[in-house]
Amino acid sequence: TPAISTNELTKIYPNGTRAVSNVSLTVASNEFVSIIGSSGAGKSSLLRCLNRLIRPTSGTLELFGEDITAVSGREIRQVRRKVGMIFQQFHLVRRLTVLENVLVGRLRFNSSFFSQCCSLLRHFSANEKEIAFECLKQVGIAHLAFQRADTLSGGQQQRVAIARALAQEPEIFLADEPIASLDPHSAEVVMDTLREIHETRNIPVLVNLHHIDFATRYGKRIVGMRHGEVIHDVLPSNLDDDM
Ligand code: ADP
Ligand code: ADP
Repeated sequence: TPAISTNELTKIYPNGTRAVSNVSLTVASNEFVSIIGSSGAGKSSLLRCLNRLIRPTSGTLELFGEDITAVSGREIRQVRRKVGMIFQQFHLVRRLTVLENVLVGRLRFNSSFFSQCCSLLRHFSANEKEIAFECLKQVGIAHLAFQRADTLSGGQQQRVAIARALAQEPEIFLADEPIASLDPHSAEVVMDTLREIHETRNIPVLVNLHHIDFATRYGKRIVGMRHGEVIHDVLPSNLDDDM
């Protein structure tokens, strides 16, 4: 069974915007997919359907063979735990340390509750802290574990966000414009980190990008979107012929 399978997936927002239009997409566990398209093409809405941050309007969506198109409540939380996601903005809790931010990824509570606490660490077992450290090691910033999140560079903060998503032990990893606000060097480090996760954890990664050069360098497969539709689905080597 594929990791992700959509059939005629469509998202129409309450104001009538058809953001995702009849998308039928199958992604296997061993794939690293770049999704490209200009601003407003529907890339972000598509990813947010995939972890059910938003509810598709029609069509179907299966993760590992399980239909999650219309699940709610407890089941929706299970989906979100299974599907790790990072965004253009890092959404870290600024006053907490890096390690605490990663531990937030293991919480079943709303992180805003914990942002009030002086120290999160005592709420977690040694084993959980060990898992969080491993995630920080994997993204190359274990040495920053006890620094406050807001003292880090943009690229470092994005890697904290990646570690926080990894701490959920996701089976699918989504990245929505993860490098859009980073300088070229940091962008490369973040993309290398995503590729490393894909290879070592053996999970599929879908990355929204608007820089085609990064898409061709990192993606094994490139999906192009326009006006909510998938208009290209190619290997990087075939891109020139196809676009
Ligand atoms: P992309 O990620 O490719 O920039 P988006 O998925 O963000 O595309 O947006 C696709 C379309 O949906 C755009 O026209 C955008 O303005 C619209 N859109 C996105 N979010 C909402 C929303 N919450 N309500 C209404 N329209 C939205
Ligand atoms: P990002 O660049 O991080 O994807 P956006 O600026 O596209 O963020 O959107 C920020 C928020 O505004 C999102 O929750 C999105 O759903 C919403 N949004 C985007 N476009 C529209 C729109 N045309 N109408 C209403 N909400 C929108």
